[in-house]
Amino acid sequence: MRRRLSDLVLHGRKRATAGLLAEYTVEGEPLERPGEILVLLGNDGEQLGRIRITAVNVLRFDNVTWEFADAEGEGFSDIEDWRTRHREFWERVSVDRIRHHAGDPSWALTGDTEVVCVWFDVVHDFETLAIHAGQPPDPATGAVVPPIYATSTYAQDGVGGLRAGYEYSRTANPTRTALEECLAALEGGRRGLAFASGMAAEDTLLRTVLTPGDHLVIPDDAYGGTFRLVSKVAERWGVSWTAAPVSDVDAVRAAVRPETKLVWIETPTNPLLNVGDIAALAAVAREAGALLVVDNTFATPYLQQPLALGADVVVHSTTKYCGGHSDVVGGALVVQDDELGEQLAFHQNAMGAVAGPFDAWLVLRGLKTLAVRMDRHCDNAERIVEMLSGHSKVTQVLYPGVGGHPGHEVAAKQMRRFGGMVSFRVEGGEKAALEVCDRVQLFILGESLGGVESLIEHPARMTHLSASGSALEVPGDLVRLSVGIESVDDLVADLTQALGT
Ligand code: PLP
Repeated sequence: MRRRLSDLVLHGRKRATAGLLAEYTVEGEPLERPGEILVLLGNDGEQLGRIRITAVNVLRFDNVTWEFADAEGEGFSDIEDWRTRHREFWERVSVDRIRHHAGDPSWALTGDTEVVCVWFDVVHDFETLAIHAGQPPDPATGAVVPPIYATSTYAQDGVGGLRAGYEYSRTANPTRTALEECLAALEGGRRGLAFASGMAAEDTLLRTVLTPGDHLVIPDDAYGGTFRLVSKVAERWGVSWTAAPVSDVDAVRAAVRPETKLVWIETPTNPLLNVGDIAALAAVAREAGALLVVDNTFATPYLQQPLALGADVVVHSTTKYCGGHSDVVGGALVVQDDELGEQLAFHQNAMGAVAGPFDAWLVLRGLKTLAVRMDRHCDNAERIVEMLSGHSKVTQVLYPGVGGHPGHEVAAKQMRRFGGMVSFRVEGGEKAALEVCDRVQLFILGESLGGVESLIEHPARMTHLSASGSALEVPGDLVRLSVGIESVDDLVADLTQALGT
């Protein structure tokens, strides 16, 4: 069935990201194994694309169910139609990669024929997925950019006769679906859910998984809003928590209790840029029967893919690098497990903190350039780190990309590069840190991060004020930079003048 795959899927007429690769009669063991990646070659040896085998089913030809035939997405009118069309197909198909009987006049698909059905996902690189996943040209008009479906409800063809499954926009909206599918593809997950903010995503996750009496472990330098949500909101509903350093696997293990349901990490953390070993912490969570949640806001899926390292849930504030232009507030959850995905989707609809279609569209547009932006953020951050590291007024530079950083080795193992966030401590304590924030001219003093413009902030007085007086309090001499994608020479000059001599 390769011809169909190449024409419809790989050459873009169908733009499916998954489907049925092949059917062939069994002669011993099926040839493919789930997880295997195949390069498909055309008749002239040209590379058509890559696919990952997701499932291999062996079925009797006559026993194919409606559900199965439907999953092929070919719009068969009934099972007999499926059989007829498959018989016809097998009479003309030619597939080099797979041994089969097509073209052999003695061969016919009878009721007893055992058929191997091989399902696949198309494998594309990150940059391609960011632009195409979940976003085929609009079927009605061919618009190459997904429309903003500014609608609250959808006409039904008779009671319950939903067109394309849409009923009410809190439950689902096509612009949001496009974003959710794109996010899932970028994180290598099966289900993505888009929310009105990162905090809305976090709240939905906490209330889906936790009930009174449960416990979670959070980073001892968690994002201030996460700490506030856990300590000031969830705690009132009978949830307890322990803060532990994400960089210390044993400390996280020691913080786990029998009632722990979530181990929640950020890596790198905000604002201290500590690094947690995702694979090792996933093992800790698994041993405890808990889920590992990774807030991947700082790294983005371009730099780090927690699900592939064993995490159960990825959290994003899409307000940041995913949106990338400081013009939208949004959040997301991505999971691998279908059942958890369903539970989260149920709560997303029940609680209602969804991303609106305009916001979903903005984040989707931001994602298209995520890879190129992140590379530039990283380039600029590296130059700034170099300058800060040699500056007499700077007592410490926190950036996981430098050899001396305690999390460097782990970061190098699990991240493609080290991101655009840089924190540093200055000589002269809080007063000096505040002065640097005041003196910059190009860096904008403001909360948030991840946009194309460079921002500077004083975490103790700004983003992390809610942690003041707690175990999560951050040092007063700390300054945090969100390094943008401007000319790095201009950025270095601005910081140099702000630090003074
Ligand atoms: N997680 C991290 C690491 C953040 O930095 C933020 C916001 O700054 C959030 C979550 C919360 O996201 P939002 O502001 O979109 O609600």
